[in-house]
Amino acid sequence: MLRGLGQWLCRICGAPTLQSLQHFLNDGEVVSAWAVAEELLRSQSTSLKSAEAVASLAVAAAATGRLERAAQLLEVLDTPDLLQGSAQELAGVHSVRDRILELLAQSRGEGALFGGENLGVDPAPKLQVPETWCWVAQLPPVAEFVGPLEIRWNEGCERGLFATRHIFPREVLLLARPLAVHSGVWAYSTAELVEQLLDACRNSARTRCQLQCLTDGWASRAPPTLAVASHALWPQPDSQPMESLGSFLTREALVNVVDRNSFHVNSKTAIYGLPSMINHSCGSVNASANILDPLGDAILFRAETEIAAGSEIFFPYFKVSGSLHRRRERSQAMGFSCRCERCAFEADTLPGTNAAAASKAAMDAFESQLRDQMADLRDRPEEAGSHCMPLLQEILSHTRRMALAMDHSWREREVAWYLHLALPLYWCGVWCCTQVWQYELLLKAGEMSVSALLQEGDPSLSKCAVTLVAARCELLLQMVLAWEHTDRHSYDHLKCCYMLYLAFMEMCKLPLSSNHYWVPLVQQEVPLWRLEERPQHAKHATSTELYATSRLRCETAFCEKFGVGSDYLCLGGTQCRVTALMRTLHP
Ligand SMILES: [Zn+2]
Ligand SMILES: [Zn+2]
Repeated sequence: MLRGLGQWLCRICGAPTLQSLQHFLNDGEVVSAWAVAEELLRSQSTSLKSAEAVASLAVAAAATGRLERAAQLLEVLDTPDLLQGSAQELAGVHSVRDRILELLAQSRGEGALFGGENLGVDPAPKLQVPETWCWVAQLPPVAEFVGPLEIRWNEGCERGLFATRHIFPREVLLLARPLAVHSGVWAYSTAELVEQLLDACRNSARTRCQLQCLTDGWASRAPPTLAVASHALWPQPDSQPMESLGSFLTREALVNVVDRNSFHVNSKTAIYGLPSMINHSCGSVNASANILDPLGDAILFRAETEIAAGSEIFFPYFKVSGSLHRRRERSQAMGFSCRCERCAFEADTLPGTNAAAASKAAMDAFESQLRDQMADLRDRPEEAGSHCMPLLQEILSHTRRMALAMDHSWREREVAWYLHLALPLYWCGVWCCTQVWQYELLLKAGEMSVSALLQEGDPSLSKCAVTLVAARCELLLQMVLAWEHTDRHSYDHLKCCYMLYLAFMEMCKLPLSSNHYWVPLVQQEVPLWRLEERPQHAKHATSTELYATSRLRCETAFCEKFGVGSDYLCLGGTQCRVTALMRTLHP
């Protein structure tokens, strides 16, 4: 059972010794190390009263996922008279205990990682141990944790992860350590990952069980039952594999596992067990993932939104801001064909409707002329101002036609998916607003400050300002909504939230004859806002109210993304952290 151990066995009775245990730990063969530890514990050797022995046993236990057992072995520290060793060794074993208690807390969902903030992760602190204790390096940098989740079959007859209770935004869903990691170019990662997996399979029964769960569908192997999959993929102690590699864990099968289950996050490619059960969606994403480089490339999943009990967890395997066609290409390249609700909406529900015609007309106009006009104006900024107004008006006529063509039975996310189809047009409109405004200011303000000019009440400038800010608010409101149900909390989403907040803030500063606006409820949950018209089903709102709403919306988005409160974000203040936080998303 214990390979390559000869020189470390006791010369008198042939039993394994403390040195054999440390030898295996130094080689990274933690499962064999624990097998030796069990032998030693069974033999009740008196040498186990030394600080070094206790620390080695505890490290072997923790390294194989036996955190409770490790803590129990260290209970001897509570009666210090029983323990022998130098002052340095005694300090070392205490340092090991501190780390193990921290890991134990993590495995129960407690500790710093489980707080709401997401502003970078510190590496586990260095252990204060004697220099010769190199084997402490086998202490895991982080413990695995699974939140209120279970594996179930979804409607598409695939396995998925489901919430077993109501989950709040920012809650940690699960924390898993990798089975294999590659940090170079994605295209060259497969061969190396497969080698790592084969290696791990030889030593670890747990890795083998996890990989067996990921090979279903391969060579028409029947998928394991939910009970088997849950048992294999939940955190559990590791042990030595009893039988030789099963016929299904071939190199070929593992290539398939890597192709289908790789996570590409933070420029790394890695294979995980339980996280592979999370399905992809282009439009109902409710979880985000972060690979924690300083913590051994463990992956941390958090809830991005509230998740109702019984709902499936979805995580985007790729950037979902592309078109249906583009998303299909991406999903097929990853070995599946996306049938998420958003794809179904775009492929089945939308075609043939007035709404589809309106969005097609808008995007056709954008692609055939509006985009070129914008590019042309961008090259000639001195002329942009005067020509942008007609361009803006044409864009608004398209977006308004789209809004009116929407189906009244749609829910908020269907509206969002629909608006997303014409997003480039909305960006173009926002660009026009800022261009015209700069032009008007240059023309009218000259040496005077803008606020002084507005104070003076130049009527034409005020009117222009109102029109432009109103248009910006109108476009950005729809853009924020579009992002909320697609690439939620992406760089672009947060940018739009911030721009919307700024637009409403400007709106509040304008000297307007009336401070009252109408928020037409095109349908119940979609507040589309227009300044000049007053549709039949409109809700009355002041610019101050709309400003407050947009501010809250922006703060909520940053809070859900980074876990920071409004005090930290300091929106609009001199210490405003919006830009600094957004920079972390665009390295
Ligand atoms: Zn002996
Ligand atoms: Zn999809």
